[in-house]
Amino acid sequence: MERLANYINGELSPPVAGRYLDNPEPATGLIYSQLPDSGGEDLDLAVAAAEAAFPDWSAATADHRARVLQRLARLVRDNAAMLARAESVDNGKPISVAATVDIPRASANLEFFAAAATQFHSEAHATDHNTLNYTLRHPLGVVACISPWNLPLYLFTWKIAPALAAGNCVIGKPSEITPMTAYLFSRLCQDAGMPPGVLNILHGTGPGIGQQIVDHPGVKAISFTGGTATGARIAASAAPRFRKLSLELGGKNPSLVFADCDWERTLEGTLRAGFSNQGQICLCGSRVLVEASIYERFRDAFVEQVEAMTVGDPLDPDTSQGAVVSAAHMEKILGCIDTARQEGGRVLCGGGRVQPDAARCRDGWFVAPTLIEGLGPDCRTNQEEIFGPVVSLSPFDGEEDAVAQANATRYGLAASLWSRDVDRCHRMARQLEAGMVWVNCWMLRDLRTPMGGMKDSGVGREGGFEAMRFFTEPKNVCISYR
Ligand code: NAD
Repeated sequence: MERLANYINGELSPPVAGRYLDNPEPATGLIYSQLPDSGGEDLDLAVAAAEAAFPDWSAATADHRARVLQRLARLVRDNAAMLARAESVDNGKPISVAATVDIPRASANLEFFAAAATQFHSEAHATDHNTLNYTLRHPLGVVACISPWNLPLYLFTWKIAPALAAGNCVIGKPSEITPMTAYLFSRLCQDAGMPPGVLNILHGTGPGIGQQIVDHPGVKAISFTGGTATGARIAASAAPRFRKLSLELGGKNPSLVFADCDWERTLEGTLRAGFSNQGQICLCGSRVLVEASIYERFRDAFVEQVEAMTVGDPLDPDTSQGAVVSAAHMEKILGCIDTARQEGGRVLCGGGRVQPDAARCRDGWFVAPTLIEGLGPDCRTNQEEIFGPVVSLSPFDGEEDAVAQANATRYGLAASLWSRDVDRCHRMARQLEAGMVWVNCWMLRDLRTPMGGMKDSGVGREGGFEAMRFFTEPKNVCISYR
């Protein structure tokens, strides 16, 4: 059975203590590889390697850093088919999603920040005729990037690329649930000529090596993407040591459908928003709010579309719904569906575990795409992040009610708005409490824009140069001259 390795000081290294964790394939439930269960000794080695690499990497020209990132981007592109397959096996997502979303976007992240490195600049302010302020931006040193399992390589690269571009050395920790693509990526780093110690990748559990990384005195900043409860724990650990923090957390995002929407485009868009990656994207629209005058017609068409989706072997290119990521996560999702029933929700389709046709997937972790209606905004189903293929449908009565229902959660990550009334779209975009509002689209991304949410969906997240600035220490120089 394949054993994955950490990536420390440019080498693939087994865990010092020799402990491993099993890594199952969600589509079959079978263990297919093992990952290091890293500990403090591995972390000390990684931090020492990163500290040793920092002087040269931070002093290297922007061009040099850009070239390393570009080579990595190209290697990810050249190995896209292999990486997409690996991610589909590791995560349970349809290979078509890995091949068209995750891997191309991972390569684009590296490409974007390679270019940004060469364009990064600091500010200067002519205060008056004889005073000038300018700001130096020093990279912080050794920083931590901790990423989740739902878009493994895409979100891992989204975090490490700006940190590296800004001249930092990185301790990366991918999710223990989906370690494979980060491991394959560490092999590509070797091929790309990444200088030893600049990027180090440690595998293992969140409460174990993850928490140790957060607590390590050598780590100057933490960029984290994951659940809100984990984010709160990390924030509590980092606060007394004044570590810089960027937290990209959970969501409970509304899709708002108005009677004047473009019908086909809206059906297709809200379906994709609800069920892409089995609903396991932080940005998924898990609450579909529909204007009352078209509610029943939209609901019936939506049910028809959901029932037509194929749940199947993730490695089959025609599968649109793969497995959910783990047995524990499947149980959590099924528990949420039970809760919805107890709360008085009516299950319109799906509602339980399902077995796809492929024989090898007999014991895999598959949940039928599920639609529920009849629940008010305050119930748990409409408040808590389920993070699975479960969408709740509710009617609204006018813009004011739509905004009130949309904003009635602790989260504020994303919203999508479906209407042909331009005035309304602008009006509502201002009122929605969400870090990202999509109008007549979903999940389109421009890497220059801030990424992340309001309220309990996170803090300190940014895009473009701001993502690089997060990984720097500003120092202002004020000069008075005669
Ligand atoms: P998670 O919080 O369980 O784990 C995320 C990462 O943190 C993993 O690598 C895990 O090992 C690590 N971790 C766990 N406990 C830790 C600790 N105490 N100290 C340090 N690291 C620790 O999240 P998950 O289940 O992997 O991912 C799903 C969640 O991520 C969902 O809530 C989803 O909404 C959120 N998410 C948010 C975004 C965003 O951009 N806002 C993107 C993707 C996913």
